[in-house]
Amino acid sequence: MRALRLQAWKSEPELVELPEPVPGPGQVVIRVGGAGACHSDLHLMHDFEPGQLPWQPPFTLGHENAGWVHALGEGVTGLTAGQPVAVHGPWGCGRCPRCRLGVDPYCDDIAAAPAPGGGGGLGLDGGMAEYMLVRDARHLVPLPERLDPVAAAPLADAGLTPYHAVRRSWPKLAPDSTAVVIGVGGLGHLAVQILKATTAARIIAVDMRAEALRLARDHGADLALPPEPEAVGEIRAATPGGRGADVVLDFVGSDNTLALAAQVTRTLGDVTIVGIAGGTLPISFFSIGYEVSVQTTYWGSRGELAEVLELGARGLLRPHVTLFPLERAVEAYRRMAEGTLTGRAVITPGAR
Ligand code: NAD
Ligand code: ZN
Ligand code: ZN
Repeated sequence: MRALRLQAWKSEPELVELPEPVPGPGQVVIRVGGAGACHSDLHLMHDFEPGQLPWQPPFTLGHENAGWVHALGEGVTGLTAGQPVAVHGPWGCGRCPRCRLGVDPYCDDIAAAPAPGGGGGLGLDGGMAEYMLVRDARHLVPLPERLDPVAAAPLADAGLTPYHAVRRSWPKLAPDSTAVVIGVGGLGHLAVQILKATTAARIIAVDMRAEALRLARDHGADLALPPEPEAVGEIRAATPGGRGADVVLDFVGSDNTLALAAQVTRTLGDVTIVGIAGGTLPISFFSIGYEVSVQTTYWGSRGELAEVLELGARGLLRPHVTLFPLERAVEAYRRMAEGTLTGRAVITPGAR
């Protein structure tokens, strides 16, 4: 089968021929219906030096996957050939209390994980190939009816990651609260929809691309504006008493977006950094509102993935996708890098 592989750090991925995977005991091979192209893959191609991460290339890209069960390893029960499934992407040790709850992204024993902090597409072979080996059947979440694997794929990361970030801030997102989404790409456009579907917050979106701002408005943002210097005043003016936003979700994570986030967050608010552009946010007593909580988040739990899939099946989340065959996956990444892609690119290696 053909697979899009990252062969070395600081390089473009290549389409190569690989043998089809065979499931070992407890493992499952899926035929990949959809594999989303995530901006993190661009970071993988360009930002990392050898030795910086606990794993290294070569591996097949694609950490946002859904497909159909193809082959079951010895001892796997509860799944049947042909069944549509989404892959919960972060693969922890499987034995620590967090993994047992499905909170693999924050595994307590990552040294015992097959690719510490990663999974298929992040250190191990991912979904940009016709077939993908899933190292443990517990990483598969059956799709609800009315949701097919191509539509489900982006929900496994572009949906799940913002869902977790929004969900942890639900108590601060009461009616008349304000949420700001910075960066309306693959993750951000679903963040807007998740806020709309699960809270009554006022939603403000920030992006430099007119197309992204249009997408945000189409999906329920009350205000969408570019990250100009005036943005701070405009965002504050849109909140009651000019007090600022209760929750800011930064899907970029540069010095500039973090500074904007800090300036528009009101006392007791949340600043959640999801984007990994590598910026920093200097914090001092006077630089940020009282009791503002700042955190990074990584992906989401298996239970949260089931919830996101349910929102997708009910039509409350509608990923805006552009489909690419595997041969054109490199083009999808190029368009993401140059900013001419709107929403998510989904590669369809094994869709028939
Ligand atoms: P994307 O390329 O689809 O979207 C990024 C969006 O941000 C684009 O619309 C772009 O125009 C906009 N943007 C860029 N710079 C901006 C700026 N200065 N101000 C306002 N908008 C700006 O990317 P994506 O796949 O949605 O990923 C977003 C980020 O999240 C990436 O850094 C990615 O690596 C990261 N990520 C993190 C996690 C996690 O678990 N923490 C998971 C997935 C992706
Ligand atoms: Zn990702
Ligand atoms: Zn664990």
